[in-house]
Amino acid sequence: MRWIYSCPHCDATLNPETSIVLRAEHEDKRMLVGLHPQPGNYEVELPPDETMPKGTRWSFSCPVCDRSLVSDLSDELCAIDMCSHGERHRVYFSRIAGEEATFVVSAEGMLTDHGVHTDQYLEHLVHLKYMR
Ligand SMILES: [Zn+2]
Repeated sequence: MRWIYSCPHCDATLNPETSIVLRAEHEDKRMLVGLHPQPGNYEVELPPDETMPKGTRWSFSCPVCDRSLVSDLSDELCAIDMCSHGERHRVYFSRIAGEEATFVVSAEGMLTDHGVHTDQYLEHLVHLKYMR
């Protein structure tokens, strides 16, 4: 299965190879990180000697156009576009390190969720049809 991710602002492809490459900032730290393309897989590739301590909140932005990926739905979620099997989706994920909460919303507004920390975000997503 192949997922193609893109920036919702400039439409640049964010996973030229496998990982989704995003700019991440927290306090005085700035780096590029690689996120696993499979929703619900929370492996993160970091530069040597860098860490994302659990509970820290990161600002993710597009490495091409520099715009913030923080979503309109919740200040704690980032949003990127995803194309899979020719269908467009929007993927929301928590920007708190160690928090496993990912939502995939189809063009028809159908929602699937991944991760063990999704409950606190569902209030932001109640207008969407829920699919388990
Ligand atoms: Zn962009």
